Amino acid sequence: RIDAVDGDATAGVHAFLHVDAEGALAQAAASDERRSAGAPLHPLDGVPIAVKDVLTTQGLPTTCGSKILEGWIPPYDATVVRKIKAAGLPILGKTNMDEFAMGSSTEHSAYGPTRNPWDQTRIPGGSGGGSAAAVAAYEAPLAVGTDTGGSIRQPGAVTGTVGVKPTYGAVSRYGLVALANSLDQAGPVTRTVLDAALLQELIGGHDPLDSTSVDQPLAPLVDAARQGATGDLAGVRVGVITELSGEGWQPGVMARFQESVDLLVKAGAEVVEVSCPTFVHALATYYLILPAECSSNLAKFDAMRYGLRVVPETGKNGGLPSAEDVMRVTRDAGFGDEVKRRIILGTYALSSGYYDAYYGQAQKVRTLISRDFEAAFEEVDVLVSPTAPTTAFELGEKLDDPLAMYLNDLATIPANLAGVPGISVPAGLADEDGLPVGFQILAPALADDRCYRVGAALE
Ligand code: GLN
Repeated sequence: RIDAVDGDATAGVHAFLHVDAEGALAQAAASDERRSAGAPLHPLDGVPIAVKDVLTTQGLPTTCGSKILEGWIPPYDATVVRKIKAAGLPILGKTNMDEFAMGSSTEHSAYGPTRNPWDQTRIPGGSGGGSAAAVAAYEAPLAVGTDTGGSIRQPGAVTGTVGVKPTYGAVSRYGLVALANSLDQAGPVTRTVLDAALLQELIGGHDPLDSTSVDQPLAPLVDAARQGATGDLAGVRVGVITELSGEGWQPGVMARFQESVDLLVKAGAEVVEVSCPTFVHALATYYLILPAECSSNLAKFDAMRYGLRVVPETGKNGGLPSAEDVMRVTRDAGFGDEVKRRIILGTYALSSGYYDAYYGQAQKVRTLISRDFEAAFEEVDVLVSPTAPTTAFELGEKLDDPLAMYLNDLATIPANLAGVPGISVPAGLADEDGLPVGFQILAPALADDRCYRVGAALE
């Protein structure tokens, strides 16, 4: 299937940056052997999976969609990858993404864009457009993505797949090349809510190798998905977030959203409107905190330790190039425009004299956003909104307008700032363009099971 539809940077879905056919077939054969030997198997043993190229894979390239990591082969597996291998899932390869997970369309990949399988002139969402497109195009039944501001849920929404951002700390970040440490979280991309629950139960859990990993069990997720699938939501209180719908949102998105809300009511849920007034500041807050963290994280790409190294013939002042010259020229060649933009934003927000006004202020607003969630979850069990304000837009449409690109994550970013879990489930197709719409369900930290229960009730 990958051979038939994936194509390359110029045509086709282009969900994969690297396909490991040989490795995947060997792992599949080993799974067959375990099965015929009657060994006890994990329920996903033998089910192929695609992995976003931001998670390290021992012996397989990991580029993060960047030229600066071209040719780098990690010597170790991310914890998520280690767990996937241990359970016997063949890894098909590494999926395309916006460079260092910065973007909402996968067009910021240094290796060419991924195309939406529903309409290849359109974006598959981002930054994890590769993982979502691979699942939507039947190139992989399961995939793993990462979500710092929406990069699992928004691609899920625009490709008609299920995408989950677990509670911060519920899935190990060890081996996840950091975009923003306080926001990043790995999670499932699947076709059904039950598949996602099986996958999160597999990749989640405490990991001593990640100091922010939560050392506390989550309620069972597969059970929650099964319970939701009965279609009975009696007693569940659902809050529609006032600030995340209405004017400015695509009418076809709002129509499908309202239809899903009506389905929840039919299933017995009690639906009320809940206001979270600080959510309107989430985007501004995120675009101070995220660049601050990533400008510091990306400092390690110094032309000395990983991947690309460009050595100029002469240094800045004539003469032999210094280490600093090599660093400057390598970064200039290795980082794309969006990455450079965020490094500049981040170093500015952290610089002395501006720290309190920007980064410090953003941290305070972040606390207010968490408090809005806490207050809302005293009234309701889950909060809901459309996942993204529009369906998939045309490739190139927002590429030269960073702010328009950032606005795609309006509804997904609050959950990352507060560390709470969220799921995007398919809600049907918009009338005006026939493209998929996503329905987002958010729950309190560690109550991921609620996302699965309500999500499964909508399938
Ligand atoms: N689109 C958002 C950004 O560009 C989210 C990215 C993500 O979740 N990795 O930062």
